[in-house]
Amino acid sequence: MVEEARDIGVEAATLGTEAYALMERLFPLCRSLTGDGVRATFDVLEELIPLARTEVPSGTRVFDWTVPDEWNVREAYVVAPDGNRVIDLRDSTLHVVSYSEPVRAMMPLEELRERLFTLPDRPDLTPYRTSYYDRTWGFCLPHRRLLELEPGDYEVVIDSTLGPGHLTYAELLIEGATQDEVLISTYVCHPSLANDNLSGIAVATMLAKELSRRSLRHSVRFLFAPGTIGPLAWLHANRERLDRVAHGLTLSCIGDGGGLTYKRSRRGAEVDRAAEAVLRDSGRPHRVLEWEPWGGDERQFCAPGFDLAMGTLMRTPHGEFDGYHTSADALDRISPAALEEAVETCLAVLDVLDSDRRYVNLTPYGEPQLGRRGLYRSAGGAVATPDDERALLWVLNLSDGSSSLLDIATRSGLPYPVIARAAERLERAELLRVTG
Ligand code: ZN
Repeated sequence: MVEEARDIGVEAATLGTEAYALMERLFPLCRSLTGDGVRATFDVLEELIPLARTEVPSGTRVFDWTVPDEWNVREAYVVAPDGNRVIDLRDSTLHVVSYSEPVRAMMPLEELRERLFTLPDRPDLTPYRTSYYDRTWGFCLPHRRLLELEPGDYEVVIDSTLGPGHLTYAELLIEGATQDEVLISTYVCHPSLANDNLSGIAVATMLAKELSRRSLRHSVRFLFAPGTIGPLAWLHANRERLDRVAHGLTLSCIGDGGGLTYKRSRRGAEVDRAAEAVLRDSGRPHRVLEWEPWGGDERQFCAPGFDLAMGTLMRTPHGEFDGYHTSADALDRISPAALEEAVETCLAVLDVLDSDRRYVNLTPYGEPQLGRRGLYRSAGGAVATPDDERALLWVLNLSDGSSSLLDIATRSGLPYPVIARAAERLERAELLRVTG
């Protein structure tokens, strides 16, 4: 499987392009915390991967939270006194405040203005606004357009429904040789925003598609759920089975041009060391962030009552990139190459988690003679690089049953695949035995 990880270049190029095409299809859908936009998103994903959906009724208690009413919107627009539609949901799903209650009214501009949200500092951008837990309604638009509105009476229509329904989340379990699971989670509640949300959905989907063709040691579970309340609903429903989650990653904001960023789990876990080794081995610029209870759904998975071994993989973290939660977070800042590298990185992390083992050196009294066994350069060039030779010595030296291959890769500074390859060769030469 280590071999496979180095071999995905061509396949991942296809995955990156396909991930981008998926984002283009999902972009116009009006997602929110609940409703048909989320279901339509799952309909599209199901063309690529099978999903098992769960519908959680409004009013269901999940820990300290309650599943909210379901929101759906069919039309939302504002007509100016001259008869022109000056704001229309059909132009962008960002134009209506998510969870707006229905309204059908005529009102003067002064009254309407209190319901219009803009960014005076960024007059060309439309902000993204939600009001999940306070009943209200409103529209979002570029400040420049607000300034152009003429005085007079405006027709306002929001054809929405807000009432008891369901919250929808979806899962895919790819079964491995063991029941220990790697949980890959991403959120599905943002409307037409690209990096913040859709990139995670696209990367998770392509990752699932690729993994379903491989043979795995861990089972891998994918969770697509609306932010915060979605993971909480899933955690609540699975609270007796959470010990199956051996490792996990939440994916967010992972399609822009920034370097990959890994945020450690709360508890400190093997997945942290695996992700850090993969990023280090890539040789590309990246960042590793300490745990903090601020960010996305990792706040729920890593709450003290669960404390799951889950890290977060992103590029530029949410809130740090220009135009966060505005219409500037559009498809033009996403590249297929960035998506491809993200999928490739997740595959490499999973590969480390699947292949990491502890070995014991069967000839620990001094170094065994490697040349005699054809493992050393002096025996006729069988070893390709100096790294391979050093890896043999590191694996032999640290394999006392307490260090895993990942430990050895971390301590030696050698790439994980080189360490894993050395262990395979030493095992074949009967110098090592697996202990766990
Ligand atoms: Zn967001």
